[in-house]
Amino acid sequence: AKALGRNAFQFYDPEMQSSAQERLEIEKGLHQAIENNEFELWFQPQVGAGDEVIGAEALLRWCHPSKGIVFPGDFISIAEDSGQIVEIGNWVLAQGIQQLSSWIEQGLPESFRRMAINISPLQFMQVDFVDRIFDLMDTAQLPGHMLELEITENMLLNNFEIASSKMKLLKQRGISFAIDDFGTGYSSLKYLRNLPLDILKIDRSFVTNLRPSSEDAAIVQVIIATADRLDLVVVAEGVETYAQRDTLLALGCHVFQGYLYSKPVPAADLYRFLQQKIKM
Ligand code: C2E
Ligand code: CA
Ligand code: CA
Ligand code: CA
Repeated sequence: AKALGRNAFQFYDPEMQSSAQERLEIEKGLHQAIENNEFELWFQPQVGAGDEVIGAEALLRWCHPSKGIVFPGDFISIAEDSGQIVEIGNWVLAQGIQQLSSWIEQGLPESFRRMAINISPLQFMQVDFVDRIFDLMDTAQLPGHMLELEITENMLLNNFEIASSKMKLLKQRGISFAIDDFGTGYSSLKYLRNLPLDILKIDRSFVTNLRPSSEDAAIVQVIIATADRLDLVVVAEGVETYAQRDTLLALGCHVFQGYLYSKPVPAADLYRFLQQKIKM
């Protein structure tokens, strides 16, 4: 089960070389973090072809009392190995849904469709996962179509039947699903056909060096053609330059996310960003 949360590329991540001692300390710190409410959700806008904000992805930050802001790359895989990701992920869901429903109350631009939340495989496989989400949505009176869950290809590998039945239940309440980091995991095109998916997120590794007629452009083109045929929306991650955006647009990409528009920012900053797009 330990290998589940790992993307193949993380094998080369220098993070993985952190000593057992360091990992143990982070694990202890995470325990404190949950108790002391040290987590925060930040948000990064997702933007359509006409620069309209169509949504936002929630990204976790750990506001450590002495280290300052700690990024998920430094603790998510440890939390997955220790199992703490379940409790952390539950906090993320509760916080994200609450934030979204308060934004709805305050008013969102018409173009804003949904908030995306990252779900870890271990979290998704909890027996109470579906009911927990329904309870949170009921309490917040949140319509399901406002919520998107981002999952990874690797999660589907060993748990296809269970995953797909949970997805179908959630889907019945209007919740949509994105495959995150598409193209980096143990891809199988089969599940694109057999799962109730809505969105493919092209991994940043295909975007970083993207140029017209490059090999990356060929890959992106195939991903987009496949997505179009299956009626999936394509979101490109890690868009940092106009050149990348224009190449992606020419290849038929629908939605863009990256530093070109905004880094992930605290909730209040994201809301200000949204307010610039509406007259309220
Ligand atoms: P991800 O889901 O692929 O999220 C995108 C990551 O790329 C974020 O890193 C974001 O800050 C970063 N990013 C966005 N635009 C750009 C860009 O233009 N250039 C570059 N260089 N980077 C960009 P972050 O926030 O550090 O999160 C890293 C990973 O941690 C996420 O990757 C996701 O897998 C995981 N993660 C974050 N929040 C959560 C969470 O609440 N739950 C779970 N299970 N995982 C999370
Ligand atoms: Ca994501
Ligand atoms: Ca991603
Ligand atoms: Ca990624």
